Amino acid sequence: MMSGAQDQMKKDAGLVRGVAKRILDPGIEMSAGEELNGKVQRDLLDLAYRNNWANILVNLAAGGSLVVMLWLLGDLAPITMIWLMVVTVVCFVRFWGGYLYRMERENVSNLSDALLRKWRFRYQTGVVVTGLLWSMVGVIEIPTVHGESQFLTMIIIAGMAGGATGILAPVFWVGRIYLCALLLPPAVILSLMPESNYILSALGLVFLMVMLVTHRNNHAVLFRSFVLKHQNQGLVEDLRQKNRITENWNATLEARVEQRTEELRNLVEHDALTGILNRDGIVAWFEHKKRSDALLDYAVLFIDLDRFKQINDGLSHAIGDEVLRAVSMRLRECVDDRHALGRWGGDEFLIVLAAPHEELHPLVETTVELAQRAVNQPINIVGHTLHVGFSTGVAFSSGRNPSISELIHWADLAAAEVKRSGRGSVHNYDKMLLTEQERRLSVTQALRRALSADEFYIEYQPIIDATLGDIIAYEALLRWKSGLLGAVPPDEFIPIAEESALIVDIGEWCMRRACQTVHDNTEIPVTTKIAINVSIRQIVMPNFPDMVSRILAETGLESSRLVLEVTESIFEKRQMSQISAVLDHLHAMEVGIHIDDFGTGYSSLSRLHEIHVDAVKIDKSFVLSMDENARVVIEAAILIAHRFGLKVIAEGIETPQQRAELRAMGVDAYQGYFFARPGQLPCRDIHWHTGPDLPA
Ligand code: C2E
Ligand code: CA
Ligand code: CA
Repeated sequence: MMSGAQDQMKKDAGLVRGVAKRILDPGIEMSAGEELNGKVQRDLLDLAYRNNWANILVNLAAGGSLVVMLWLLGDLAPITMIWLMVVTVVCFVRFWGGYLYRMERENVSNLSDALLRKWRFRYQTGVVVTGLLWSMVGVIEIPTVHGESQFLTMIIIAGMAGGATGILAPVFWVGRIYLCALLLPPAVILSLMPESNYILSALGLVFLMVMLVTHRNNHAVLFRSFVLKHQNQGLVEDLRQKNRITENWNATLEARVEQRTEELRNLVEHDALTGILNRDGIVAWFEHKKRSDALLDYAVLFIDLDRFKQINDGLSHAIGDEVLRAVSMRLRECVDDRHALGRWGGDEFLIVLAAPHEELHPLVETTVELAQRAVNQPINIVGHTLHVGFSTGVAFSSGRNPSISELIHWADLAAAEVKRSGRGSVHNYDKMLLTEQERRLSVTQALRRALSADEFYIEYQPIIDATLGDIIAYEALLRWKSGLLGAVPPDEFIPIAEESALIVDIGEWCMRRACQTVHDNTEIPVTTKIAINVSIRQIVMPNFPDMVSRILAETGLESSRLVLEVTESIFEKRQMSQISAVLDHLHAMEVGIHIDDFGTGYSSLSRLHEIHVDAVKIDKSFVLSMDENARVVIEAAILIAHRFGLKVIAEGIETPQQRAELRAMGVDAYQGYFFARPGQLPCRDIHWHTGPDLPA
């Protein structure tokens, strides 16, 4: 088995042989290595000319030594002197040629083929002529001199041949011719002449063989080194080019990656529907802004569209999308690029304003004003003219250095507060609000467990007939004693329960418990009714009347003893037709319907006849204030209600004066602390007979 090194050497030798063959035999068609060959040939010629002077010097020295040696030995013939002169002239010509070549090479960086051929021919001619001159020594001098002179001549010639194997290594065939010209004639002559010297002849021939092999090897090594040199140069150039391409490619790639990253960042940070920033975009913008200018203060405007759900559900999601797009375009006009506009989700938009502290508040005001003016303009979409309003919550970073998510959270809370308290206004975040919100959160969480933890109970407050002073009904008032939060007033937890829909189950529990309690209480006359507060959310539940009849059946309470108190908001609701159907159904079941908190909400006096109602409860706020306005409202309510055949109940009566005045106005029933506070059944000791103004 061949070792790796041997294998490599064999390959190299093959390569050299192949290439050398092509160079030296122009008949062979040059292939892909043609260019390489050309380069190598030029290198070889250059080297040959560089070695030229050495060859010339060796010739002169050898020629001179030969003449001196022959002269010393007394063998010097005149022809040898002439020969030396010819050699000297040839050497001079060659030397001159070499010089011209150097001159030419200095001017011509890339030798053309023609020049290559010309100078190679000149060089080769010089070498061949020199070689032929030396062969004349073998032919003419050797046969005529003594054995010693022959021997010394052979030594000089051999020395020259030895040197030529290296010096003439760049030229293969010419080198061989030169070697042959040097050694072959004397060796042949030595064996052919009458006093033949076979040993010296044989030595000469052997030496010629060795020199030819050595020269061949030297040439091969030289050739290979040039090939390698050019291959390496090619490789380096290739690499350089590739690097350039790679650099270019890298540069383009980098640019493309950057561009793509930018596109992705855009995608990631912008809202697909509206094109404005999304949550991530807002956060990124804020972080960037904060880094680039640490001195700015921030205000976050949380903009929550009013009644967007109606548009979305009522018209279509496509129109909803158009509205969002239109709103975002209008908001965009109110915000320049020092600030940010984004969509937080659904129908919520965010404006983040960045400005020096003293400029921030006025900026917020003008921005809200601008935004309201812009968005309030009617929006025309495929034949619909829509009016969109919004509620705004504002949070300021001032002095607190909050994170953007905190700011947004506060602004969101403020906007939610605006929604609760009536739409369309602006609410600034303050610490109170946060505490309020946190409280709301804990109430919501505690509420979820309240039913199963049996934390609810009911207090009953009598409703008294204004004429007779009898308890005609009890109102069931829900109480919650939370294990976690203690007693939570209904004014606090009922709205929260309504928001989270927990009110449905809680309301059902309350109705069942109240009906049961009233039914089971033997001290209560069977004509006394029980009034249960019912939220809209309960009424719009499917099968609400079924639920009511089920409870009545379960508790055994007569349906005519049940009264449901619903607030005025039923008139406002979009589901009014549904609600009115439910109320019709309940009315048919003989369940009474009272309108609670009458006068606080929507001026529904004129619409009272649209719904089956048995009584209205004038809100306690009118009773408690009892100023001129309140009196007008109460009198109007009584008048209209009576006109529609409805009873009027006044709640919140705390004083005998209030009772007297209401009595004078024509109220049918009373409810209030003056008579009895909410408590346990049957609340018999009602405060009726005290006070200055007793009924007749
Ligand atoms: P409401 O239906 O208007 O109930 C009357 C409220 O007025 C009760 O407050 C009662 O305690 C209070 N009140 C009675 N007399 C007077 C008085 O002379 N002066 C004053 N200042 N207040 C008086 P409460 O019990 O705190 O209930 C608050 C609200 O909670 C109720 O207002 C009602 O809207 C709601 N609520 C209570 N229980 C339920 C329930 O079971 N279901 C539903 N949906 N809501 C309920
Ligand atoms: Ca009520
Ligand atoms: Ca009320």
